[in-house]
Amino acid sequence: MKKQQKKSKEVEQCLVLIKPDGLVKSLTGNIITELSDTELKIVGAKVVQVTRELAEEHYQHLKEAAFFDELIKYIMGHYHTRRVLALVYQGENAIEKVRKIVGATNPEKADPTSIRGKYGRITSAGVFENVVHASENAPEAEREIKLWFRPDELVYTVFDTEVKEVKIDKMFWKEKEEVKKSK
Ligand code: UDP
Ligand code: MG
Repeated sequence: MKKQQKKSKEVEQCLVLIKPDGLVKSLTGNIITELSDTELKIVGAKVVQVTRELAEEHYQHLKEAAFFDELIKYIMGHYHTRRVLALVYQGENAIEKVRKIVGATNPEKADPTSIRGKYGRITSAGVFENVVHASENAPEAEREIKLWFRPDELVYTVFDTEVKEVKIDKMFWKEKEEVKKSK
């Protein structure tokens, strides 16, 4: 008997970024609601002020593109707000499921019912302001998640971790003078 071709059900993680235009347009709730149709789990979330270093590393595959400088400014928040909401989704075929709802890169070509089709635009500088980022494939997802998150910022991870002893300075909330004196 012929073996039945089964669709792979591998547990994957996918980085989703709600880009600065998504935040300024108050689309966070809509985007998370739309992505909840995937029934994937959110295993990490944080608001990030994107540095040039992080932006350039994230978009390293587009270094030679004519729109690279504009793209870096866009993700750093020069045109909207200096914030990106970074999320990690986990589950079976997470990347395919997320990217289907996110839609094609070019918002004019994206399915009009997808997030990018509904809310994206092309700027006069030629950048696709497409509201969200989603990892393209498993190796890229791993690279991106490791770039944006430390292992202890995720509740689960499918990537190997190791423990290292390091000396670090950590920031704490400053105690009020009255509290200090009463001790
Ligand atoms: N981008 C653009 N013009 C292009 C291609 C890409 O402005 O012709 C921007 C767009 O914001 C896109 C990002 O660069 O989301 C990363 O491009 P990529 O090809 O990786 O597309 P994605 O994986 O985001 O769909
Ligand atoms: Mg990409």
